[in-house]
Amino acid sequence: MLVVAVITSIPMLHLGHKSLLWLIICINLIGIHVFTPVSISWTLYFLFTMIIVMGYIQYQLDILLRTQYKAELIAAERANTDKLTGLYNRHSFETKCSNLIAQLHPSQYIALAMIDIDYFKKYNDNYGHLEGDRVLIKVAEILNSCEADIVIRFGGEEFILVKILQIDQLNWLHDLPKAFSNSTIPHQYSSFGRITVSTGIAIAKTNEKIVTTKELLTSADEAMYQAKNTGRNRVVSQSVIPPKK
Ligand code: GH3
Ligand code: MG
Ligand code: MG
Repeated sequence: MLVVAVITSIPMLHLGHKSLLWLIICINLIGIHVFTPVSISWTLYFLFTMIIVMGYIQYQLDILLRTQYKAELIAAERANTDKLTGLYNRHSFETKCSNLIAQLHPSQYIALAMIDIDYFKKYNDNYGHLEGDRVLIKVAEILNSCEADIVIRFGGEEFILVKILQIDQLNWLHDLPKAFSNSTIPHQYSSFGRITVSTGIAIAKTNEKIVTTKELLTSADEAMYQAKNTGRNRVVSQSVIPPKK
């Protein structure tokens, strides 16, 4: 029984390890049977005891490992998700965007849109922070319906959408101001009388040089400030022409 206890205390994490363990036990039992005067009934008795003990430990260990794995997955998902809107947060943006860029075919384009709610401080100051939070949730819903490949709450009242585009989709998001006017969220302290957003889009084609997330982000940020400076509630696009090597 001591041998059984020692053997069953070995961590059984891997199918290969488990099979090897069972092979060793069976060979040993055959050895005991052949080379010692122990009767076949005692050998079988030990074998069945071992099967029961090891099976039970294996079962408990499997439950423990599965629970741990699920908990780790949930924790990782939480770390990447914005609590208020349920969108992915800035933390996961870089990896997701780089993965998307890596999937691009030479004939495709990638667009990164930076979206900022207009006059949102005034909204908070006049309607309160909780109402402001509700607006953020509604804005997230509208942006979620824009068929982007990645939707991120970048921070505060700024969001990022990223999408791989075909040549006939380069006008993607140009109807965004219309989408906000269709689902009107009143904001009487804005010159538009409702919630609007300013959007800067960086578009890149990658057949010459792979564009980076940073280049897209910088260009989209510039375009977004142009949208703000030219009156807000609009979309400004610009192409990213990566510097030649
Ligand atoms: P602009 O049109 O130039 O973008 O002006 P703005 O007022 O939208 O921009 P500003 O940067 O001055 O203000 C952003 C505001 O966003 C300030 C802050 O109170 C608010 N904000 C940031 N995060 C949250 C949040 O999680 N909830 C709420 N309710 N408000 C937030
Ligand atoms: Mg802002
Ligand atoms: Mg703003």
